[in-house]
Order: sequence, then structure tokens, then C-alpha cells
Amino acid sequence: MSKLIVANWKMEMAHMEAIEWLHEDYPEVRITADNSPHELVICPSFTELSYATEHFFEDQWGAQNCGTYPLGPFTGEVSAISLAEMGVFHVIVGHSERRELGETNEMIKGKIESLLPQFINPIVCIGETLEQRESYKEVLFKQLEVLIEPYTKADISPIIAYEPIWAIGSGKTPKENQLEEVVNYIKEVTAELKPSVLYGGSVMPGIAKRFSPLVDGYLVGSASLNPELLKKIILSC
Ligand code: PEP
Repeated sequence: MSKLIVANWKMEMAHMEAIEWLHEDYPEVRITADNSPHELVICPSFTELSYATEHFFEDQWGAQNCGTYPLGPFTGEVSAISLAEMGVFHVIVGHSERRELGETNEMIKGKIESLLPQFINPIVCIGETLEQRESYKEVLFKQLEVLIEPYTKADISPIIAYEPIWAIGSGKTPKENQLEEVVNYIKEVTAELKPSVLYGGSVMPGIAKRFSPLVDGYLVGSASLNPELLKKIILSC
């Protein structure tokens, strides 16, 4: 079955290195994705997005964030409208690294409301910390309830990336039964929205293979910087 594989490059590469990756490594990664049944979306920094969308305009590209409001006096923010005009198809919203900087569920709702009219599909990240593990339902419910209104209005199904915060960049991952329980809970809370649920957190080829029956795809952080690992993940799904 086709999976959605989203590569989140974060701020791991500076401009010249990222351009070199796109120029040297992307074509082979692309061939691997094209020869698979899976969909690949790479999310570079804003500084490389226009290079990517101009040079590889037939492919899908994602941004790692966008402004809460469509346009206005918001210094340093990037508008969903600009991203749409550039040919961006996806935007990661609510990543835990941004929530840690103060992004609230209401702000995430605003971003979703800015993106949907532009036909950009948000990839909405949710997840609990290790301390919140026992009460994960409460935490995830608050993160999920803000999706109901914008997605019901837009009549489109959300892409939700479940990323337990304790699994991001740690090499730790949930057990299959733990992941299955959480995915079922997400689908129960958002039943009317019929979401796709991705998993994120230390995804490597072995994890991609093991979790494949449970999820609709992956949000891949550090492993996505390595073209060989990224190709193996695509081939393992
Ligand atoms: C992420 O930051 O979204 C992520 C999943 O990172 P990593 O794969 O490095 O754990």
C-alpha cells in the first residue's frame, strides 16, 4: 500500500550543503521513490524551497512552518499564500520543536486555517512527552480538538503525524502495541475527519518496515538527511 514519506530536514543543513544535496543526491532518491508505490515530500528550509520548486517543479515539496495569519504586519513570518504561489504542497505545522518555542494549539489552528484555502495540505504534528505518557489521551485530545472545525469546514481529510516527543532524535521508539493503541485513539477522536496517520520519531529502515501495517506513512527527521538511508526507508515501507 502506498505510504506518504515526509522528510523534515529541520535546520540541519546550511544553504550550500542543502543545494548540493538537491543537485547531487535528490535525482537518485527521486528515482527510488518513483519506482515505489510511495509518495515522497521533502521539507527543506525556506531558503532552499524556491530552488527546489523551480528545479523540480513536477515533484511535491513541503515547508517546515508558516505564519499564523494569511498576510499582514508579521515581521519574519512566511505566508501560506506565498508558499502556494511557489508551488509548495505541504507544510509541517505544530512540530514539537516549534511547540517548545511557544506555539500553541490555537496558533496551530490559525496556520491550518491559513493553509487550507491555499490548497496546501498541512502535516499536523502531535505527541506527548515522556512525563505525559500515562496521560497521553488528555494531551493528544487537546492537540486534536483544534483540527475539527477547520477540517470540517474545508471538507478535506487531515494528515496527522504522531511523534512521541521522547522518540524524536533519541533512537527510542514505541512498541508496536503502544503505537497501535495511540493510532486507534487518534482515529477515534477524529473519526469524522478520516485522517491519515503518520509516525515520526527515530524512523530508520527497520522501523519503517515494522510499523508499516499500523500507519499511513512517516515523518523522518535525521535519517532523511542521508540519501542512502532515505532510499532504504522508501524501499522498506
Ligand atoms: C522529527 O523531528 O520530526 C523527527 C521525527 O526526527 P527524528 O527522525 O530525527 O527522530
